[in-house]
Amino acid sequence: MATQPSVTQDNQGQVDTPAIEQAIRQILRAIGEDEQREGLKDTPGRVARFWQEFINYDPGNVDVAFESVTTDQMVVVSGVKVWSICEHHLLPFQCAIAIGYIARDKVLGLSKFARIAHQMAHRLQIQERLVHVIADEVERLTESPDVAVVADGEHLCMSIRGIRTPATMTTSVMRGVFFSNPEARAEFLRLAKR
Ligand SMILES: [Zn+2]
Repeated sequence: MATQPSVTQDNQGQVDTPAIEQAIRQILRAIGEDEQREGLKDTPGRVARFWQEFINYDPGNVDVAFESVTTDQMVVVSGVKVWSICEHHLLPFQCAIAIGYIARDKVLGLSKFARIAHQMAHRLQIQERLVHVIADEVERLTESPDVAVVADGEHLCMSIRGIRTPATMTTSVMRGVFFSNPEARAEFLRLAKR
């Protein structure tokens, strides 16, 4: 497996699939289902495999940065779509994410941004924290203090329960020049096509 950034190691490889299967059987019984019926007999195993796959997502090697040829250039990657799971309800949410930074000494390959976003989404999350941990990782890898992340999320926990209506939640983090300079922030949001 590729070198993992330190922040990803908190929950890797710790999925107890037999325990998940047992828990799912209990849920099925608790909602009045017959866990032995045809459609459900393999469900606990499927759910356990889903969690194993979700938690053990391998983003590949994100820990590679190139030397920058120019400095003070704004780089914006937008339209990155990720699925995560809300830690309050264990229901999925989908986010469209834009990431920006001012290149100093190091630049990141384009695909790395999507990998970082997926990596941070593949755990129990809240959208507010998701943008922060993505920003932390971009800051760590690019060694630039000027990092911006904005996410538009649709949460199943809003659509399927509670107020039962689809709605978009926006969260953002603005660091360095994106925080202190309104023009840089506006330029980022324009390039992020918002
Ligand atoms: Zn929720």
